[in-house]
Amino acid sequence: MADQPQPTPTQPAHVPLNRQRLIAPGPVEVEPRVLAQLAQPQMHHRAPEGVAKLMQARAQLSELLDAPGYESVIVTGSGTAAFEGALVSLVPGGAKVVSAQAGKFSERWGEMAGRFGYDTHLVSRPWGEVLDPQEVADAARDAHTLLVTHSETSTGALHDLQAITAAAKARNPDLIVIADCITSYGVAELRPDAWGVDVIVSGSQKGTATPPGLGLLLFSPEVQERLIPNTPRGFYLDMQRELKGQKAGNTPQTPAINLIYALSASLERLLSVPREVLWAEKRRQNDALLAAGTAIGARPWASRTSPAVAVLCPPEGLGGRAVAAQLAAMGQRALPGQAPHEDTVFRVSNMGYADRYDALAIAGVMEDAFEALGVTFTRGAGVAAAWEALKG
Ligand SMILES: *Cc1c(COP(=O)(O)O)cnc(C)c1O
Repeated sequence: MADQPQPTPTQPAHVPLNRQRLIAPGPVEVEPRVLAQLAQPQMHHRAPEGVAKLMQARAQLSELLDAPGYESVIVTGSGTAAFEGALVSLVPGGAKVVSAQAGKFSERWGEMAGRFGYDTHLVSRPWGEVLDPQEVADAARDAHTLLVTHSETSTGALHDLQAITAAAKARNPDLIVIADCITSYGVAELRPDAWGVDVIVSGSQKGTATPPGLGLLLFSPEVQERLIPNTPRGFYLDMQRELKGQKAGNTPQTPAINLIYALSASLERLLSVPREVLWAEKRRQNDALLAAGTAIGARPWASRTSPAVAVLCPPEGLGGRAVAAQLAAMGQRALPGQAPHEDTVFRVSNMGYADRYDALAIAGVMEDAFEALGVTFTRGAGVAAAWEALKG
């Protein structure tokens, strides 16, 4: 939109902005103690300490979800690499793959399956909506694998992974469910064992509050046996080979060992409270952001919201890009929407190393941004609404 207002600096020129607070849905703020792991003298992945650290991080990954039978694999690469590894290491060439999608990231998995030449079928819903479990189950009744996204970061929707998996497996017990949990792992309630999800995929720079560079996977006991050699799998992303090596503390290739130290330190913090407490608090923090935005004229896009990110449609006449640019001018790295909906929404997140007082601060910054952009609202209403939501 050409007539959108330009961002105005709101801090006096003589006060240097000493930070870009990351309030984008990844990468997120990282605890200094976690960053300090990266400043150690270079460690070696084959040294006993390096092997032990990999084993520790792998155990922490399944512990966070209370999924002891699940074996984890840590891939050097982003979340997308991990997803690709799961896909190509489990699905034989030409097999039927169903991609359930309602946003940018879930669409990526359908595109990926198509590129690998799978018999790819899409179950699509408009962005902002949630998937219908029965519709997905029906499409996947004779499929080999279902690709589904739990927390759709482009729209702020939390799909009902439990209901989708239950409905799909009731129709097709042999179905493999690969779930993109990139922004739900460590943030939203996620019980792969109880829900029957075969593969959980995540990335280090989202809910696990670590710098980018690691893809995280958890494989159910049953699906570990289905990592088969006759797939179009790559060499680097051969999950059968990785799992075999990592179970013994070794990776076939050089891993980003420094990041594994950082990941383990971050998981230690996440594991210091019961997982239910962590999930409930992240939910309240995100509800606070949604409530703040709503109180000052924005509205949530998704009908069923994810606790990972507040995706808000700005007030009438204002675009998501202008809001994100204004926030950036104020030292806050938020994001607009994703193509083709860049201007429909802006996205702010309290994932990562951020607590409820960060949520309150973001509520205050949103007020300042809206005021700078000429929105009319009751000053203080956003912060008050956030505060109220935090009591919840
Ligand atoms: C960030 C994100 C991805 C992509 O992960 P990368 O680490 O950038 O590869 C995929 N899905 C969701 C839901 C995400 O939020």
